[in-house]
Amino acid sequence: MNGTKDYYKVLGVDKKASQKEIKDAYRKLARKYHPDANPGDKGSEEKFKEISEAYEVLSDPEKRKQYDAGGMFPDGGTGAGFGPFDFSSFTGRPGSRTYTYSGDLGDLGDLFNLFGGLGTGAARGRRREAARGRDIPADVTISFEEALSGVTVPLTVAAKSACPECKGSGAKPGTLPKTCPTCGGRGSVSQNQGLFAFSRPCPACGGRGTVIENPCERCGGTGVKEMPRSIKVKIPAGINDGGKVRFPGKGEAGPLGAPPGDLYVNVHVRPHKYFKRKDADILLDLPLTFPEAALGTTVEVPTVNGKVKLKIPAGTADGRKFRLRGKGAPRPKGKSHGDMIVTARVVVPKKLSAKEKELLKKLQGMEKENPRAFLEE
Ligand SMILES: [Zn+2]
Ligand SMILES: [Zn+2]
Repeated sequence: MNGTKDYYKVLGVDKKASQKEIKDAYRKLARKYHPDANPGDKGSEEKFKEISEAYEVLSDPEKRKQYDAGGMFPDGGTGAGFGPFDFSSFTGRPGSRTYTYSGDLGDLGDLFNLFGGLGTGAARGRRREAARGRDIPADVTISFEEALSGVTVPLTVAAKSACPECKGSGAKPGTLPKTCPTCGGRGSVSQNQGLFAFSRPCPACGGRGTVIENPCERCGGTGVKEMPRSIKVKIPAGINDGGKVRFPGKGEAGPLGAPPGDLYVNVHVRPHKYFKRKDADILLDLPLTFPEAALGTTVEVPTVNGKVKLKIPAGTADGRKFRLRGKGAPRPKGKSHGDMIVTARVVVPKKLSAKEKELLKKLQGMEKENPRAFLEE
């Protein structure tokens, strides 16, 4: 870095720009080029350093005056390290590395909060993320009716649970994990590189900030034990076959007291004798005799909440659909229900009595409509 760069050009502002204009310009560019917004992009990282350097000088009236006068800074470079913005420890996340910024952010704080918080808080958050217990799957099979009403199902999960002896701490009962001597409990070690400090998870404690001197004998200091665990899971009303329900925190225990993973329950719904599901709608095929379909009738049809009377108009063709509003399954979230869709199925008798045959033959001779008329020229 040198002092010959045109900082005004870098920030895209006029030489007479006010402090507010400079800040606004920096804010806009920092959002665009922040390493968190461009993970792994070297070009953006360079650009971000450049605009930060320009801002550091131009935002400080003293340094700006010096810069305008073409003067040199005390360190022979840009003056980085002076004033409120000490970029030797600024926090962001290019890939797995960490920038730490510990200076006074003033009202630019929101900009940095946007990218995942500041300093140790953010570092701790990431640490927890990394050490979190595994997500685990489970399967349950419920009846068609249970899928409509919702049901609580007992479930045995065989997965790592918090060790009952040390309560997940990994330390022998009566002893406590002690602060890691390598990182002083910070969980990370840093390495300076130009204006930035890149930090890595501490190799001695794996980023936890603590080390165990007297490990728990039951779990060997891991804080977790492979143990079957009985839980009850609440399957929501209206779920479909193949649906998935997530139970946060019901997965595998995290090592050394880290947060547990999630439990994902795959729901299988046993088929019903005659109802079918399509999303929130319930489908039913309703067999009708030819006279019923031709002459019309009223039939009783079952719904999931009792029988209803359905009027079949005269001249109902096979495949005609009747919609019973609100007689379907509850929709997930919210109080509404799907519909029940009844499809008319005209049944042709397989066996006929002599009398029936006679009547049908008579009917055949009387029919005026030729159903195949459209096939003829
Ligand atoms: Zn233990
Ligand atoms: Zn450490």
